[in-house]
Formats: sequence, C-alpha cells, structure tokens
Amino acid sequence: MRQRVAPSTDAAALLAPWAARPAHSRGRRHPVTPAPTRNAFQRDRDRIVHCSAFRRLVYKTQVFVNHEGDLFRTRLTHTLEVAQLARDIARALRLHEDLVEAIALAHDLGHTPFGHAGQDALNACMAEHGGFEHNWQSLRVVDVLEHRYPQHDGLNLTFETREGLLKHCSLANARELEVREPGGPGRRFLDRTRPGLEAQLANLADEIAYNTHDIDDGVRSGLLQMAQLADIPLFAEHQRSALSDHPGLQGRRLLYETIRRVLSAQVYDVIAASAAAIDRAAPADIDAVRSSAEPLIVFSPAMREQSMALKRFLFANLYRHPQVVQTNEQARQVVRELFAVYQERPCELRPSFAARSDRERAIADYIAGMTDRFALHEHQRLTGRRLMKVWR
Ligand code: MG
Repeated sequence: MRQRVAPSTDAAALLAPWAARPAHSRGRRHPVTPAPTRNAFQRDRDRIVHCSAFRRLVYKTQVFVNHEGDLFRTRLTHTLEVAQLARDIARALRLHEDLVEAIALAHDLGHTPFGHAGQDALNACMAEHGGFEHNWQSLRVVDVLEHRYPQHDGLNLTFETREGLLKHCSLANARELEVREPGGPGRRFLDRTRPGLEAQLANLADEIAYNTHDIDDGVRSGLLQMAQLADIPLFAEHQRSALSDHPGLQGRRLLYETIRRVLSAQVYDVIAASAAAIDRAAPADIDAVRSSAEPLIVFSPAMREQSMALKRFLFANLYRHPQVVQTNEQARQVVRELFAVYQERPCELRPSFAARSDRERAIADYIAGMTDRFALHEHQRLTGRRLMKVWR
C-alpha cells in the first residue's frame, strides 16, 4: 500500500529570499531519511522538546533560585517566552519560524544550575581544563550529551540550529570545533562571519525576554519597588501612556500593562529596524546574510540605548541586590564544593560520567546537567551541609 503523505508544511513561498530553507540546509552530521510530514527544522524542534535536558530547564534558575517561589521565571518559562517572541518577529519578517523556534527552545540547554552564578563557578573550576561556557555547552548537549539514538550520540540536529546555539565561542573552542568538524559551527568565529537571521533573531529575542520579565520578577520578589522603575526611561514612558489610557490604574495591573507595552515597543522596533537593515543590505540569500558586514536583526539606535539603560538598571538594582548576591555566593559554593568532591572521589559521579577518561570535563558535564534542587541534594549528601533550603 502506498504511504499517504501530507502536503509539505514548509511554506517556502511565504519565506523571504534571505530566510533559512530546510531544503537547502547544510544538513546533519549523520544522514537521515526525510520525515514524511515534517521539514528538517520542525524535526529539530521536536527532537529538542523530547530531550531530557529540555525537561530539566523547569528546575533551573533564571534569576531567582527555583525554590524561592513558584511564580518566578525558570529557564523553561523563560525559554518559552523567547520562543514566542522569536516566532512572532520571524513571521513578520518572513523568516523560518520552525528554525527560530528550535534555536530558541534549545538556547539555554547548556545552562548550569543556579544561573550565571553556577556558570561562573564552573568556569573557574575548569580554568585549567578548557573553561566552561553555557553556549558551547548547549551545543555539547545536543551534539554529545543526549543519548537517545541507537546509531549516534546527540540529537543530530541540522547545521542551522547548531549554528544558532553557538552564540559566543572562544577562539580556542572554535579551533577545537573546526578540527573535529571542518566548516562546522566553529568556523564563523575564525572567519568572523555571522549566523543566519533566525539565529540573530533568537539571540535578540532572548535579550528582550529577560530584560522585560526580570522587571516583573524583580517586583514580585520585593527586591524592586514600583517607584524605582521610573528611573528606567523606557518603563517610565510606557507607564505614562498606560496611565493616560487608563487613569487611576495602579498596582499589579499597572505593572503588567506597562510591561506589555514595553515588550510590544521592543518587538515592533526590532521588526521595523531589521526590515530597514535587510532592505539596505539586500542579501540575496542566507549565505549573503552570513557574510554581511553588519548584523541585520537589530534595534533602532534609540531603542538600543533604551535597552542598554534598562540593562544597567537591572544590573545595579536587581542582579547586584545584596539578597541576590548572597544567594549567588551560596550557589557558587555549592558548585565549587561539588566539583572538588567529585575530583577527589570520582566514584560519586554517575557511572557513565565516572567511566570517562576526560575527568574534569566529565565532572563539568555532570554538574552542568543538574537542576538546582538535584545540585543541592547532592551537595548535602556529599558534604553533610545544607547551604540553601530545598523547598520541595
Ligand atoms: Mg536565555
């Protein structure tokens, strides 16, 4: 019996000439038979959603440690917000939505427990052993650390998704990648070229998402006060417009209405500024995008300045708040002490990690894969001390 095949879901006709196209993908490291109903980027997205590193995002810190409250963003809800923003912008710019969604959903898979504090501590522990960087680790998760297929390690994603995950990369890591895979995702850091527009977009959507949702989480935590937010020009401007449309609005509803406007303003700004930049550069295709002198997914200069001011505010008032600083110091201690115990007693690692000959990298991979609460339980089990309360 002939297999009935649904019509192609790759709406190529709707894509801009400079968008990524699954049919022209640079391919996967291990050849696969095409799926009957899904394009290559849909398939990447589906592989990401079903992998275990994706499920662990729900118990990993964004800014606030997972046990501090149920309503704060976690890596998972942050990731979903990035995917939503990136898809909306991609559709407006006629980029490939499935690719941008795949990159967005995988962009934080390499994050350690406890957010940036965890990464900094692990990077310091790995200083003599090649360092630790979460973008590079995201690529490692999808290339090496997921074990779900009979024929190969990793998820065997397309080049375009992998290109998007490697947002930053040291020259040393880029050279190492290039040796293992000539012309692979490390190459552009050696050539100083750019990734495709879907990758540029996922990156900017990440920035829009965290800058905006961290205001909400900051107020929810009580570490930021509504009155302080007037110091952020972008917030103040949209709070004035919210109050002019809804006189007397206050409290949470005023906060949400303002945040909604701040978010929309950034999204529409990126769409307009990027459309103009693409117009000026007029790239013939994705390879012309990759070699273009300037990034093409951009804020307007005015919004870039507003966004920088918002970032500066969050650094000064939230990320460096004494309470956050204190939690981060405890988190770094957890990671440092776990690393030291595993170095001394590798038998405490999970057997598949203990069996590896690259001892320090195996420890870093193991710790990076932990959720906040697993790291805390493991730290308590191995040291007999409890540095943070584990809520659940
Ligand atoms: Mg992120």
